[in-house]
Amino acid sequence: SKDGLSPPWYPTPKGGTDKQWEESYKKAAELVKQMTLVEKVNITTGTGWSMQLCVGNTGPVERLKFPGLCLQDGPLGLRFADNTTAFPAGITVGATWNKELMYQRGKAHGKEAKLKGINVLLGPAMGPLGRMPAGGRNWEGFGSDPVLQGVAAAQTIKGIQEEGVMATAKHFVGNEQEHFRQAWEWGLPNAISSNIDDRTLHEVYAWPFADSIKAGVVSIMCSYNQVNGSYACQNSKLLNGILKDEFGFQGFIQSDWLAQRSGVAAAIAGLDMSMPGDGLQWAKGESLWGPELTKSVLNGSVPVDRVDDMVTRIVASWYQVGQDKWSSDGPNFSSWTNEKVGNIHEGSPSDTTTGVVNKFINAQGEGDDFHGNIARKVAAEGTVLVKNENNVLPLDRNGWKEHEKSSKQGTKFRVGIFGEDARLSRDGINSCADQHCNDGTLASGWGSGAANFPYLVEPLAAIRKAFSNESVYVTDWPENEVPGQKEILEDQDLCIVFANADAGEGFLKWEDVHGDRNDLNLQKNGDRLIQDVANSCGKGKGDVVVVIHNVGPVILEQFVDLPNVKSILIANLPSQESGNALVDILFGDVNPSGHLPYTIAKNEEDYGPGSKIKYLPSPVDGLSPQQNFSEGLYIDYRYFDKNEIAPRYEFGFGLSYTTFHLSALLISSLEPKTPYPAARPSGIEPPSYSTEIPDPKSALYPKDFHKVEKYIYPYLETTDGIHKSPIKASLLQSPLSPAGGAQGGNPDLYTPLVTVSASVTNIGTVAGSCVVQLYISYPENHKNAETGEPVDFPVKVLRAFEKVHIDAQKEGVLKGIKGSTHGGAGGNRQMVKFELTRRDLSYWDVESQNWVLPSEGEFEIAVGFSSRDLPLKGKW
Ligand code: BGC
Ligand code: BGC
Repeated sequence: SKDGLSPPWYPTPKGGTDKQWEESYKKAAELVKQMTLVEKVNITTGTGWSMQLCVGNTGPVERLKFPGLCLQDGPLGLRFADNTTAFPAGITVGATWNKELMYQRGKAHGKEAKLKGINVLLGPAMGPLGRMPAGGRNWEGFGSDPVLQGVAAAQTIKGIQEEGVMATAKHFVGNEQEHFRQAWEWGLPNAISSNIDDRTLHEVYAWPFADSIKAGVVSIMCSYNQVNGSYACQNSKLLNGILKDEFGFQGFIQSDWLAQRSGVAAAIAGLDMSMPGDGLQWAKGESLWGPELTKSVLNGSVPVDRVDDMVTRIVASWYQVGQDKWSSDGPNFSSWTNEKVGNIHEGSPSDTTTGVVNKFINAQGEGDDFHGNIARKVAAEGTVLVKNENNVLPLDRNGWKEHEKSSKQGTKFRVGIFGEDARLSRDGINSCADQHCNDGTLASGWGSGAANFPYLVEPLAAIRKAFSNESVYVTDWPENEVPGQKEILEDQDLCIVFANADAGEGFLKWEDVHGDRNDLNLQKNGDRLIQDVANSCGKGKGDVVVVIHNVGPVILEQFVDLPNVKSILIANLPSQESGNALVDILFGDVNPSGHLPYTIAKNEEDYGPGSKIKYLPSPVDGLSPQQNFSEGLYIDYRYFDKNEIAPRYEFGFGLSYTTFHLSALLISSLEPKTPYPAARPSGIEPPSYSTEIPDPKSALYPKDFHKVEKYIYPYLETTDGIHKSPIKASLLQSPLSPAGGAQGGNPDLYTPLVTVSASVTNIGTVAGSCVVQLYISYPENHKNAETGEPVDFPVKVLRAFEKVHIDAQKEGVLKGIKGSTHGGAGGNRQMVKFELTRRDLSYWDVESQNWVLPSEGEFEIAVGFSSRDLPLKGKW
């Protein structure tokens, strides 16, 4: 609702209404039709934490050759697996603004999952979206804007699912902080409630999930927290209403691990799979579903057709990505041991069955298809150059630059490398569970979204190797306390200094960082180190290059304006190819083209209501902390724009070693402006089965059944107390949303209404990639049709972007004509084209519960290089 309520939305829309899933649902129905109730329940409920090899496992229906499914984290690599790639984190991917690379990374990730026998990958993450700059898990997603998140998520999903692996869009929704995300980690009776108004939910937090569904994602994970006073995994408005009706989601909704808080309520609110199967506590062998779901169906509390729909959605998803064609023997790795032979049911206190659990299959690709190459490209393109005075970068491998050579003849160029973040951890690259320590160079955040590094290229070693040792003398001091021997600093011509800021998931902490950061400063005295290095490097005359590894925005004010701090690289989380990717950028083998996927402020408070992680609402009502998203639509750059706050480096900003020029903006209207989308189309008929409640005796344990202690089975011990006298299901049918009708919502929302094109010219002397960004501003003075109230809009919002690689102008062609628009002859000019859809140009109107396009007045369409550098402007 307008004020952020959780109105009831029942019953759960059935899967199988979308043409694009027709075949899969037909096949699924064939199979499900033959299943008994316990077989169905077995597919909906995990077998319990650590009862099998993956972090999540469902039970099979062997009789019908439907396998148990292996679900494994996560968004950047395969957690707890061997011989796999640790790709750069989502935030680094977002910083590339490169759709092709987003897709390639997803594809390689999917290939690896398949080789390891993983059915469902628990990623990509697009929530948290970045409301709170210090939020512990922001780095798992792609940046603080719904469009950037949505595009990156869709590209990742396409890549993963084309390889036959099911992707999971997570966490739906409002899990913007780690503090209080769930009850047990924080000693509370209940988890936090993220209170989000309806318009903000649609335009910001749910937006990338709609894109994911449009891209065909087959699974969505609901989050730990409550939303508007109701747990996300039993919130019927969110699951039945928004995901399954309005966004037309045809796949299955799985709970985050123990995010399910009720049995019947969750089932009828739209949850389809309970993960990892355990109930309110870990590894107790008890479940809110499993036998309880069986019972609820038998006694009429959960309608038979709801369980049928859960199972059909899961089985159809399996067909949809083609897993029926797998010759799968299940997962060939264990999450619980690195030994070849290990427990089959690790979590069982009494079961001692062992077997070969790790087959050590190398999934990293080889030759041209070695996935480390993709990781390196993403890491390099996800490195953002924010400052580069006197063109100190790129460096020369031989030391002195061309123009310095004559005066420096005969003297070696001296480079000093400083900071612990330049070297590897001395305890080993995987010494901390789920990477939860900030020790040595930072290449990943921590938690379930981290993976083991197969190797980690040390920045220090890579830089040493890159310089010629004939003409360059490299000294290093990879610690955060400056050396006592002054010469180590004073003798240098150039100093490269490293610092970082880490965060992660709330079940692990590093020092006093309980997931969320406490502030936005560099950690481990990084600011001091950089200041000290700048003061003494070459007796204050040496050039300083700062390299930051970070999980999100960091405050740079303590050194950004120091006169000899010439260059700053925001390298985000580069992962295993860290050193190589950094060298690519430092020496100009790759021209920097990363752009910030978040705003870097001058002060922490500048981010607005989301800035104060530390002083979060304590549980005022004694039950659950309330987090009001009172800034509404205005997060990150939208907040800075609205409140006229100058950031240090704005959202979308990033420098290159060349210069680009934009010209020739062309805006063409494809359709007339009309306020509402076409009427919602009706879908095809979903499968239906007999709704008769089966004989309770069919749910009893089979005779002589061997039970593994704590394993979750669907069977009942007894039929005592089960009365086959169903409570009549309520006749209530919530009204269908006018914004629904297909995957991602009403298909007319995706009708292109405008095309925009522009010309980019590389007017510098080196080739490079340019990120062209398109922002819109809504017409002024728009009034809501029903209330007559003026509608408030952000100053501008990102709606599209493209990255293009452009050669430098050729010698002699148009030389020196700055800003020339006739670069064609030199091959140094390219067209970029954008389409704006009805959804892009609409806002969510809470009154009509539909997307409305302000059809009077003019939109401003601005094209440029960042959210504050928009040289081309036009009207529509
Ligand atoms: C995390 C999820 C993850 C799951 C399984 C949860 O605590 O929030 O993102 O997929 O664990 O490891
Ligand atoms: C598991 C994670 C999970 C977390 C939630 C940990 O023990 O390893 O997968 O996200 O618990 O509390």
